Amino acid sequence: MKDRTLLMIPGPIEFEPAVLAALGAPTTSHVAPDFIEAFGQALEKTRKVFLSDDGQPFVLAGSGTLAMDTAVANLIEPGDKALVVNTGFFSDRMALILERYGAQVTHVKAPVGGRPTIEEVAAALKKDRFKVMTITHVDTSTAVIADVKALAQLAQQYGALSIVDGVCSVAGEELRMSEWGVDVALTASQKAISVPPGLALVVAGPRAMQSFKARKTPVMSYYSDWANWLPIMEAYESRKPSYFGTPAVNLVFALNVSLDQILKEGLDARFKRHRALGAAVQAALKSLELDQVPTRAEFAAHTLSAPRYPQGITQADLLPKVQKAGVTLAGGLHPAIKAEYFRIGHMGPTNSGDVLATIGAIETALQQCNYAFTSGAGVAAAQTAYQETILRFL
Ligand code: PMP
Repeated sequence: MKDRTLLMIPGPIEFEPAVLAALGAPTTSHVAPDFIEAFGQALEKTRKVFLSDDGQPFVLAGSGTLAMDTAVANLIEPGDKALVVNTGFFSDRMALILERYGAQVTHVKAPVGGRPTIEEVAAALKKDRFKVMTITHVDTSTAVIADVKALAQLAQQYGALSIVDGVCSVAGEELRMSEWGVDVALTASQKAISVPPGLALVVAGPRAMQSFKARKTPVMSYYSDWANWLPIMEAYESRKPSYFGTPAVNLVFALNVSLDQILKEGLDARFKRHRALGAAVQAALKSLELDQVPTRAEFAAHTLSAPRYPQGITQADLLPKVQKAGVTLAGGLHPAIKAEYFRIGHMGPTNSGDVLATIGAIETALQQCNYAFTSGAGVAAAQTAYQETILRFL
């Protein structure tokens, strides 16, 4: 019997063997020719995965929070105004980072599980002049997806730089930096990028780089300062060694392998697969009559789902039983509703078989909790929805 469970949390996820093999290979010097080549390639591929024609990629050792911190530290000067399109815990975190660097923050917020309408965001943009507008593409605390395409267009219309927290979206949800006019997009390695935790990825478009270069005050974080990192990224991309802080050599090798796999699958195929995985889980939860945190179907992300526990069943009742049935899931995160729901991650290399196994384990646990439902209904609904979505989007 396997002594491990299927890891279906919203990051870290299960990783591909080739990625883990790269991570476990003997470490080379950060100025060795094979590392220079791998880092140079990884930067080029990062730009492609973000669907950016002309953005500047920064790949730094750190987590997603460092990616958020870096974007804000380099673009905000004390007194700048920022609009936060708030869909949950990670939008709140972005606001805290903005405030830490001296921004005056305005929120456009919806009740938990909702998202502000485009009209509400437009009204806020009309009222004041904002230097940046931040969007959490998928807020991992609510599983709510934002309409980045429409919001980024709006930011552009009102002269604000758009910063997209894509930690739970990049390489899973459709995100087209150049086509949609997104100024900065960022992510971390451990989610749909499919590399163990430890890398922060930021791509800054031309307007963001211009804004950075026009700063009147120094960047208040020494480590994050693009003035320190830009020459390094440019050097590696032109296949020259350079040093500011030691790069996470093994993680960068692993990133290069994973980005290859992502580009080989093709971004359109990958977005479609994630839509199908999301549709499968949504259909299963509906057939099991489990409510969800996103208050409308079109608000639900495709990279994770957030079902509510049925009446009378708690996290302590359900999740250990799911674990015993072979699948690890995550508890709630949003402070206002933490105990009321759980989270299922379905991104990166996850396939339909993983989703069926997960729904099967949830059914087993629900049965053990004496929850009334038709056994197998969730699995059947997931299977049908996956097939229908894959065919529909072909
Ligand atoms: N933003 C979002 C949307 C996230 O899901 C996360 C992590 N769950 C973060 C930011 C922070 O990333 P990290 O935990 O890697 O610092």
